[in-house]
Amino acid sequence: MHGPLTSQRGIGIGFKGVSLVSSRARLARLRTELSRRELDAMVVTAPVSIRYLCGFSGTNALLVVKSRSALFVTDPRYTEQSRCLPRNIIRRTVLGSLLEGVARLGFLKGCHSLGIEEDSITLERFRQMRRAFSGVSLCDTYAAIECLASVKEKVEIAALSKAAEISDAVFKEIVPLIRPGVTEVDIADEITCRQRNHGAEKDAFDPIVAAGDRSAQPHARATACKIRRGDSVVMDFGCTVQGYGSDLTRTVVVGLASARFRAMYETVLRAREEAVGKVREGVEARVVDAAARKVISSRGFGRYFVHSLGHGLGLSVHERPRLSPTSADILQDGNVLTIEPGIYIPGYCGVRIEDDIVVRRAGCTLLTKSPRELVIL
Ligand code: ZN
Ligand code: ZN
Repeated sequence: MHGPLTSQRGIGIGFKGVSLVSSRARLARLRTELSRRELDAMVVTAPVSIRYLCGFSGTNALLVVKSRSALFVTDPRYTEQSRCLPRNIIRRTVLGSLLEGVARLGFLKGCHSLGIEEDSITLERFRQMRRAFSGVSLCDTYAAIECLASVKEKVEIAALSKAAEISDAVFKEIVPLIRPGVTEVDIADEITCRQRNHGAEKDAFDPIVAAGDRSAQPHARATACKIRRGDSVVMDFGCTVQGYGSDLTRTVVVGLASARFRAMYETVLRAREEAVGKVREGVEARVVDAAARKVISSRGFGRYFVHSLGHGLGLSVHERPRLSPTSADILQDGNVLTIEPGIYIPGYCGVRIEDDIVVRRAGCTLLTKSPRELVIL
């Protein structure tokens, strides 16, 4: 079984979306990064990083990457799945602690410096590492894999694009269902069910459906509250395709829109346009954030835009680059990100519009196609 695992056809449960070619190329890029940092090896612990590098999506595994070889260690529950790993990765099943298993196998013999993913390990695991790899210095790799993963390959953009397409189709279907008397949970359930019917694996996160003054909470949970005439309804949802997510927000209004609500909506829409217009390779992420923030502030809503403008999107819903006033990220061709300005007035309502886009050399392409003009139901 040496055939490539194509992006369209995952072989075995949990190996969807990473071809042999992609895995090799990603490991090669990581090795370049490790040698630049003068690290002999890296022990990869975050499940999302392991999935990115070799396609494994189980819950218990370690991947140890050296300059010429890589070792994958898991427990007996995943022995069968791990047979589908690219053949250039050594596979071992161990009982008990995976870290001690790696130490017993002697794979790190001769290594003096080991990269770790500090932001994804617990203190307990760090202590286990120090015991298992005594004499080896442990160094944080400062999101090395996250940075590599932020530049998407064609197959990844195809999966992200399909996920966005499904969410668009579902938005179109649920708009006619929004009316007085229907609950937020009713709409959230419809979103989940319909995304799966359209071919999604699952929700990328629990759908947010927030009506009336609850829409002023940016991350409200859907409740049994009924939608009433005059309510604005913020819906933020997404799904995954081969592990890659979509993230879509639209705000609609039921019955009638007040002048104040219209002003909020127009401002958010304008902020989104200004921000999208700034996106291209080489631009600082904070400049894009600032463009949206400037529009919102200039119209008097500055203090009601309480979150960052957007985030990278991939195997994780929130990844690099980060679009915030303090971000040091610089946009690269192939980044996929969200642009999601919002205004939230406590006790009144909220408006957010969110699109998924791909950064390109001279601009960007939109993955989200849902209309953005105000929908009054
Ligand atoms: Zn969202
Ligand atoms: Zn988002």
